Amino acid sequence: MKVNIHHKITLILTLTVAVILTGIYFYLNENLKEYAYQRLEANLARELAFAGDHLSYVYSTSAAAVDADRVADAMGKGLGLRVTVLGHNGVVLGDSELDARAVAAAENHLLRPEVQGALRAAVGESRRFSTTVHKDMLYMARTLGEDAGPGFIRLAIPLSEINLISGKLKRMLLLTLLCAFILAVIIGSSAFIFVSRPIKEISAVAREIALGNYSRRVSITATDELGELARSINFMSEQIHHRIEEVVSNKSRFEAVLLSMYEGTMAVDKRSTIILMNEVLMRLFHVDADPTGRKPLEVIRNIEIQEIIDQVFASRLSVASREITVHLEGDKTMQVFAAPVLRGEELDGAVLVFHDITELRQLENVRRDFVANVSHEIRTPLTSIKGYTETLLDGALEDKGNARDFLKIIGADADRLVQLVDDLLDLAKIESGNLALKLVTVPLAGVIDRIIAGLKKQAERRGVALRRELPENLPHVHVDEATIAQVFLNLLDNGIKYNREGGSVTVSARPEGEIVRVDVTDTGIGIPEEDLPRIFERFYRVDKARSRQLGGTGLGLAIVKHIIQAHGGEISVRSELQKGSTFSFTLPRA
Ligand code: ADP
Repeated sequence: MKVNIHHKITLILTLTVAVILTGIYFYLNENLKEYAYQRLEANLARELAFAGDHLSYVYSTSAAAVDADRVADAMGKGLGLRVTVLGHNGVVLGDSELDARAVAAAENHLLRPEVQGALRAAVGESRRFSTTVHKDMLYMARTLGEDAGPGFIRLAIPLSEINLISGKLKRMLLLTLLCAFILAVIIGSSAFIFVSRPIKEISAVAREIALGNYSRRVSITATDELGELARSINFMSEQIHHRIEEVVSNKSRFEAVLLSMYEGTMAVDKRSTIILMNEVLMRLFHVDADPTGRKPLEVIRNIEIQEIIDQVFASRLSVASREITVHLEGDKTMQVFAAPVLRGEELDGAVLVFHDITELRQLENVRRDFVANVSHEIRTPLTSIKGYTETLLDGALEDKGNARDFLKIIGADADRLVQLVDDLLDLAKIESGNLALKLVTVPLAGVIDRIIAGLKKQAERRGVALRRELPENLPHVHVDEATIAQVFLNLLDNGIKYNREGGSVTVSARPEGEIVRVDVTDTGIGIPEEDLPRIFERFYRVDKARSRQLGGTGLGLAIVKHIIQAHGGEISVRSELQKGSTFSFTLPRA
């Protein structure tokens, strides 16, 4: 059961009041009888003095003999007490409780302790059981002087009077204490409610503040301690709000910077647990689930990331950098920079920035391969030219028949070199973006016809038929005529070169919305499937020897692809070995 402070204080208050009032009750009860007796005694003494004086007066003023018994009866009736009048020798002269016969028969009272007391000190007193009236009585007697008629007057009151008085007082006391008790509990309880209301409000507000509702304020305006507490709580709430806003704004600023970074970014705490990873990095490493709270190795399968973090944690001040390779579908090469995050002197974590340098590394490889390829391509005809020249100089020049053949070979190699240099220059021009396309609207059929006408002889030599399948209403295209002519030339030339005797090369075209799709289909040797993805790379050839023998440079398709892309189009190839290939590309409609 929940015992709240209200119940506790009420309980303590009730118990305290009950203990105090019970103490008071017992103390007063103890003293009540004594007090009542004293009051009775004092009253009796006063009444005795008065009764004595009255009796002396009656005797001194009365000419006839006084009937002491009748006076005693009258006084007893008046005072509501037992009054006994005694002679000097202790003989009973009158008694308010006894009739005349009983008075005459009453025994001498001289030896009664109160009479003896009065003899000794004018007033005497005694408490005892009266055999006459059969009650506990308080007796008080006094002397009346020598000249008075009787010697003593004695008053008696039953002690049951005391019990009566003290009983009455006790009841009154009990009632008063009970009332006091109830009143104390009621007042105490309501006083607590009055005091506890603001405490309850303060506690409710404190709870709301703890839950983040910083706009809540305690509405107490009192100037007492509770008012002060309320003001402190309000001030505290304001301060917390302020601080939290500051922290949140710093945090969001920090997060905004990291998250909006173009590079992949990751932040870890001092236990190497990820606290932030931006979208770029998540996309880069195909992280789908929220990575926060996990270790880098659990998210990116690369042990080196943890090593870099450990390195900056150990050095604390310096930035570490490392090139790592992450194995995903294709390998990714990353340049990782890691910097420690310090709070004052203390290490708080690290921030890692990932640069994707996969393409850069690939380009470097391509460039290296390219240089090697170019050198190789140039070296072959040059070696041949040098060899035949030396042979001629060594005497073959005299042999007219051979000399002519040698010079033809030298001429053909020189042509190859020129072709190679031309292709390289074209490629360089296109790749550098310096190829200024002179876009004009031309009828595609015209361009195709011209190229076919130009290649006619070469095709005939090889026994390959050149065909065109163009619809009547083939739309015009918006292209740079010279470069597009080169595209057709290269593709048709390949179609003838890599064909078989009796084969054919067909050019077909059809409009498709905003573009015109062109297919160059041959019935040649085809391209193996594994070579298809690389066929448009520079110097890539399925059969190097055959290509060279046919005068190819391995650059034709790379040039074609670049020209088509420069026109905003795309090119693809389908092929089946020994059946033929189809190069399909798009051109913008005029
Ligand atoms: P090349 O000067 O060697 O012809 P290309 O870039 O034009 O250079 O072609 C690259 C390679 O693609 C060729 O060496 C050849 O192996 C292959 N190829 C190109 N066109 C065809 C085709 N129509 N049929 C079969 N193979 C082809």
